[in-house]
Amino acid sequence: MKLPLVFEAPQRGKPPRHFADLDDDARRAAVAELGLPAFRGKQLANQYFGRLIADPQSMTDLPAAMRDTVADALFPQLLNVVRSIECDDAETRKTLWRAVDGTTFESVLMRYPQRNTVCISSQAGCGMACPFCATGQGGLTRNLSTAEILEQVRAASVVLRDEQFGGMARSARVGRLSNIVFMGMGEPLANYNRVLAAVKRIIAPPPQGFGISARSVTVSTVGLAPAIRKLADERLGVTLALSLHAPDDELRDTLVPVNNRWNVGEALDAARYYADVTGRRVSIEYALIRDINDQAWRGDLLGKKLHGALGPLVHVNVIPLNPTPGSKWDASPKPAEREFVKRVRERGVSCTVRDTRGREIAAACGQLAAEG
Ligand code: SAH
Repeated sequence: MKLPLVFEAPQRGKPPRHFADLDDDARRAAVAELGLPAFRGKQLANQYFGRLIADPQSMTDLPAAMRDTVADALFPQLLNVVRSIECDDAETRKTLWRAVDGTTFESVLMRYPQRNTVCISSQAGCGMACPFCATGQGGLTRNLSTAEILEQVRAASVVLRDEQFGGMARSARVGRLSNIVFMGMGEPLANYNRVLAAVKRIIAPPPQGFGISARSVTVSTVGLAPAIRKLADERLGVTLALSLHAPDDELRDTLVPVNNRWNVGEALDAARYYADVTGRRVSIEYALIRDINDQAWRGDLLGKKLHGALGPLVHVNVIPLNPTPGSKWDASPKPAEREFVKRVRERGVSCTVRDTRGREIAAACGQLAAEG
């Protein structure tokens, strides 16, 4: 579906500064610059992170005369919804966002019986060029700012909260956001500083952040080894997912082009470092592609390499390949998938097939293209 374009050709640029971009010091300075007493900074943080309010006009503890100034200086409206579509009986919802400069990107909210997960973007587009991923085909438009990343989280939290208090909570379902995965558009570790600042605010308790448990936050990467080590050293306790997709360099060089820079061994060494430093089990993502990476012998090799590199500190998520426009590749037939999983497990590595959401609205892994 194409929407009429109501905007001029977009100017790609730097998003305006937003309250959520600021760390403690910058926040204090910004509040002082406006001539406000320091306690206002804490109030604003409480409104934004605690009450999920981003419009100063609704911040009732802020004197009415101050609201316009605060709005102009610190709370520009960063994102507008272009459209939202649902599937899986409205349990999955994909939102297409437009930033101030016209850049578009997507996020996906998925409700499960015991948890609610939002899959967020860290970049508009992606520069990693993996041939089986729709995002990779479009190239990179730009990095998202910290606040643009956090706004996706806040919006998902608001949807869930409003359902709950509107009496629309689906029975036996939690009414708050519990999990965040950086598995939308982009390579999070290629936008390291902004993603790191966003992660810190996602896991900090209110009023400093959204207070989501670190272990429920997953940063997924193609395997930028130095950045994985750096993230480990931050000791945030978030879950690392490594998109491996092949156990051997010959094939991975073609499926994940960055393998030509950091190969399977180097990516696994970095993952091991992450597991050692954080004590957290690393997830390995493996999109299973018919006749490309689904051979039983590759299952053996994958299990062997992972067991050797990570021992018990690893779990493999097999993702049946989701179709992308113009790709001739296809998911593996179920018997091949079962055999593959069996081979990995036989090597002592835990392995499950991931339940795929949002295929028919192009919201599943690798399908986000943000077509306006
Ligand atoms: N760039 C990061 C974050 C994106 S996460 C990364 O690659 O990890 C998206 C996940 O979906 C990655 O594991 C990616 O490899 C996988 N994926 C991409 N295209 C897919 C497709 N067509 N079918 C299934 N999974 C896919």
